[in-house]
Amino acid sequence: MNIGADRVSQINLSQVRKMFEQASPTAINLALGEPDFDTPKHILESLTNALNDNRTHYSQNKGEPVLRESIAKKLDNDNNIDVSSDDIIVTVGASEALYSSIQALVNPGDDVLIPDPGFLSYAECVRLAGANSVPVKSSRDNEFKTTVEDVQNALTAETKAIVINSPCNPTGAVMEKEDIKAISDLATDEEFIVLSDEIYEKIIYDKKHYSFQSFTDNAVTINGFSKAYAMTGLRVGYCASSPEIIDEILKVHQYNVACIDTATQIACNTALNSSQDCVYQMTCEFKKRRDLVVNSLNDMGLDCVMPDGAFYVFFHADNPEEFVKKAVKEDVILVPGGAFGEEGKEFIRLSYAQSYDNLEEAMRRLERIA
Ligand code: PMP
Repeated sequence: MNIGADRVSQINLSQVRKMFEQASPTAINLALGEPDFDTPKHILESLTNALNDNRTHYSQNKGEPVLRESIAKKLDNDNNIDVSSDDIIVTVGASEALYSSIQALVNPGDDVLIPDPGFLSYAECVRLAGANSVPVKSSRDNEFKTTVEDVQNALTAETKAIVINSPCNPTGAVMEKEDIKAISDLATDEEFIVLSDEIYEKIIYDKKHYSFQSFTDNAVTINGFSKAYAMTGLRVGYCASSPEIIDEILKVHQYNVACIDTATQIACNTALNSSQDCVYQMTCEFKKRRDLVVNSLNDMGLDCVMPDGAFYVFFHADNPEEFVKKAVKEDVILVPGGAFGEEGKEFIRLSYAQSYDNLEEAMRRLERIA
């Protein structure tokens, strides 16, 4: 008997998780995709208070109205996106927003453009919908920034949607405003939907973040609390779009998770309505670490662009698989870039979501094998 359904049995489990499993207790893990900071105290207090107030029952399927109001305000203020709280669904992390959007909008046999290199989940979510992923290649020569020309080159007659991720995992690239506007115009003209994964929006250095949905109605904005507020384990994300698109996504969300937990939504509402100093401080610290890592790698002769966002660097190595194995022997865990697509094969992803001291030590260890 074939146990797995056909569309599931071909799915790959995350290679990044495999890297964790190889780690010894003394290893410095630079494979992690989550902030090393504690969740800010005022958010935890709000969560505790909500639990003590018995906020342990179902919320509306789309999410707590008070949180959706705050998200709508945030989208207006930060992203120039005009949506009502009814056009927002609070999801189990950005992960569920991504999965539910693709399930809701894509037919079997459709093409979905995804970034290459790009976050592992995209290709598998597209496959789970029975659709085909088409890579949009970004290159080192353009510092891995996706351009409108890259998208035009990848577009097919069957393209239903494109997933875009800026700031980007795994490269840290932040797209230019002109490209975001031009791709939005293309989405309107060619009638495809932009699924814009903006989870690293707040982790950005000296650049401004722009949202596709401020330029086109054919967009779903996907974002969440995991990275900005160092709360990956509390699992809160959201998507926003036009009423027609949200109606479809809600069907998948409703019959999959019903709603996310209520107390955490109250804590997220506190996060949005309190001082954003905690976000600013974490981003400043990430910037110091980025500078340390990029300068050290370049000093070792390992070509590495200075990324403008997220907490990853994507550096070149002659034989990345070999380099990663040698790094494991030196007790440093990295991820070979091939895990993120064909275009990543000559590179290695390093996450600097680790303390400055650990990063300094990791750089000393990598110097021995560079
Ligand atoms: N998108 C990208 C690009 C990510 O890197 C991640 C987390 N690694 C996610 C989405 C998922 O985030 P969440 O914790 O909100 O599900």
